[in-house]
Amino acid sequence: MPSVYIKTYGCQMNERDSEAVAAQLAAKGYTIAASEAVADVILLNTCSVRDMAEQKAIGKMQNIAADVRRNRPDVVLGFLGCMAQSRGRQLIDQLPDVDLVLGTQKFHRAAEYLDELLAGRREKIIDTESESGSEATIKEHLLLGRRDGAAGPVSAFVSIMQGCNQHCTFCIVPFTRGEERSRAIPDIVAECRQLAENGVKEITLLGQIVTSYGRREIPAREGRSGFVQLLAAVHEIEGLERIRFTSPHPKGYGDDLVAAYGELPKLCESAHLPAQSGSDRMLKAMHRGYTREKYLGLIGKLRRVQPGIGITTDIIVGFPGETEEDFDLTLSLAREAQFDNAYVFKYSPRQDTPAAAMPGQAPRGLKEERHARLLEEINAIGKRRYQERVGQTMQILVEGPSKRGPRWTGRTRCNKIVLFDGSERHRGRLMDVRIERAGLFTLYGDPAILNPD
Ligand code: SAM
Repeated sequence: MPSVYIKTYGCQMNERDSEAVAAQLAAKGYTIAASEAVADVILLNTCSVRDMAEQKAIGKMQNIAADVRRNRPDVVLGFLGCMAQSRGRQLIDQLPDVDLVLGTQKFHRAAEYLDELLAGRREKIIDTESESGSEATIKEHLLLGRRDGAAGPVSAFVSIMQGCNQHCTFCIVPFTRGEERSRAIPDIVAECRQLAENGVKEITLLGQIVTSYGRREIPAREGRSGFVQLLAAVHEIEGLERIRFTSPHPKGYGDDLVAAYGELPKLCESAHLPAQSGSDRMLKAMHRGYTREKYLGLIGKLRRVQPGIGITTDIIVGFPGETEEDFDLTLSLAREAQFDNAYVFKYSPRQDTPAAAMPGQAPRGLKEERHARLLEEINAIGKRRYQERVGQTMQILVEGPSKRGPRWTGRTRCNKIVLFDGSERHRGRLMDVRIERAGLFTLYGDPAILNPD
């Protein structure tokens, strides 16, 4: 049977989509190749959020095509996901070596299309149509198909919805992922239960705006939104120890969701709250639907319910029309919010989005300068906040050996990475560590005294 290699760009949603495609192919007998050099099928699952991500994937495919077509002409090449959706046929016009272009509502057809291409029944396939019900098709997990007896991951992603209706003026996602569509609660719970039965202890529920889950489909019950009802249902699953979700929208944090952090012990004390800007003028131009005051008020509410909550954010610098005064407000928001960490992005104009046509597009140098200044502030705050954890005892879930060295890695409930001297016997364990020291966005812990064995 053929082997497949999938390279993923972008967010956790894309990681999850790639896994579901890989699991679908593995179930049909494909093997998962360790590298593109030995694969019969090479797929790039793409991201469109910023231009740089698109250029990276295009450049990568150009290199692969040049190499593969010279030495292994029968290899099938494909683009999946967001850029495949937004560019469609254009991709094959630009890169004629590409055989498959599969949009975001068609991942479940990957095996069928690859069979046709590998058998030579079709030369090129482009499918970027919308398909009702496709949100419920991202549910296969590689872990559940494994027969090698190797230890599986302790943490898994579960896709609960697709699409976005927010239409932030900078964002391409509504064009690449379509309208919001949610899966049913029993379907999601069944998937989570199966994962828990197979050793998964932590589940992260995923959606483009996860807090919009079930807004149209699920009526509120006893003051609880569809999303909070889902959290409560997943919370019931035996064997599951931790629940997380990403990425939410600050607007989606009703009082029921804030209260859930106090009522559902498995819900981890961590929130990724994309702020985007600290200036009300910019927030309005971005169509974010909240003010700086509301945003900071939400952080206050969350910290009152869970004082140790880890709060991270996304911020865009150099949005059209952003003045030095607006940018200063973003710097001061970072100081007031005391973020544990932040992803800082330079504004990237995206095709067909309203912000791309707005006056006052910032020059590259200005975006770079603001990016560097904000990052310096974020790093200084983060460093202090990580340092404050030294001496504390924190619970971690051990994930496995660290990618960069001899230590093992675990994650606190507030979503901080902890490195410690561990071994295979620690894998998948929930254990307490004493934080000995802090680096930039990493904690170093000692589990020995607290977990004798
Ligand atoms: N749920 C998130 C929210 O509340 O907006 C959206 C997730 S988005 C895919 C990830 C992040 O990419 C956004 O929060 C935003 O900071 C950044 N982003 C989106 N479009 C961008 C653009 N055109 N230029 C720069 N950054 C962008």
